[in-house]
Amino acid sequence: MDFFSEIVGETVILGIDSLILGFCVKQLSKCKYILNALQTAPVLDIDESLNKEINKYSNYTIPYVVIRGLVKPLGAPITSNYNQSVTGVVQRLTIKEHVIARTLAGFWSDQTRTIHEVCNAAPFVLSNGKYSIEVVDALAADLLDMDVISDKFEPMSPGVIDHVWGFFSGVRQRGLQTMEEMLRDGSYITAIGELSRSNSGALKIQPPREDLPLYLTTSTKSSLLKRLAGSRDFLRVLLIVFGAVAAVASGRIAYKYLKRRKRRDLELTMKKQLATGRRERRAQARESGLADVQLCVVCTENPKEIILLPCGHVCLCEDCADNIKEQCPICREKIESKAPAFIT
Ligand SMILES: [Zn+2]
Ligand SMILES: [Zn+2]
Repeated sequence: MDFFSEIVGETVILGIDSLILGFCVKQLSKCKYILNALQTAPVLDIDESLNKEINKYSNYTIPYVVIRGLVKPLGAPITSNYNQSVTGVVQRLTIKEHVIARTLAGFWSDQTRTIHEVCNAAPFVLSNGKYSIEVVDALAADLLDMDVISDKFEPMSPGVIDHVWGFFSGVRQRGLQTMEEMLRDGSYITAIGELSRSNSGALKIQPPREDLPLYLTTSTKSSLLKRLAGSRDFLRVLLIVFGAVAAVASGRIAYKYLKRRKRRDLELTMKKQLATGRRERRAQARESGLADVQLCVVCTENPKEIILLPCGHVCLCEDCADNIKEQCPICREKIESKAPAFIT
């Protein structure tokens, strides 16, 4: 067995593990970056002081800022499909299929698949009395907390054919879930993003540059920070776990490599010992003066030392036997194996 096939398991594990590790490292650095930006982001009130604050920044733009206010539509709001009395500014309709699917291991497990999703958004502002800030591109938010307006599950009652089909296809339908979520007008939310003032004096908050997320959430800055710190700690744990897996896999590869080298060294030493023994035997044989019939038929120098099987001819010395692999030089029969022969 060559070395690679000996370590193929460890190599595969190490390969997959380093991919996961790479992903974790990337996520962790992103998480730390956001955490850092959020920690230093100023918390501002929507009032007169906001304009003064913006004046301190170049281009009248604050790169990352935390603002709380009431959601207010600029034009006509969106009305809920399920409850006419509910209006909002962002609406998400999702249809999910619930199935029981057979996993690779052969077990059946509950699974949910989104089969349809529609988002609608109306322009809106965050307001506080007479002051307001327009929220631009709300659908691009990384975190968009919405109220669930309607959540219905319609179970399917499968017939015999469905059962049979489900058994063979590995997927059984359970039902459809239709859900409507909305960011309602009048909700009090925290917006975290880039705040800027246009030439006309209008204020807007939008997805920031520099890879930072836009948040539109009902949580406060401190609870968001806690949540981010939680994911950072979780990523750290993952990093330790997958780091340990990588260490074990590399350790095993190193161990196997060293073991293999040791075995090869041992084989080499044994070969050398055998060669020395052979030389000594030959020296003795020459001293005793061998008859021609006792000499190897190829080199006619060394004594006959090897028996060829299955024909059974003892006609070669060890050196010549190393070079002759196919046929017996006497009877031309195929050589299947060789063994040392001791003629005394
Ligand atoms: Zn020979
Ligand atoms: Zn033969």
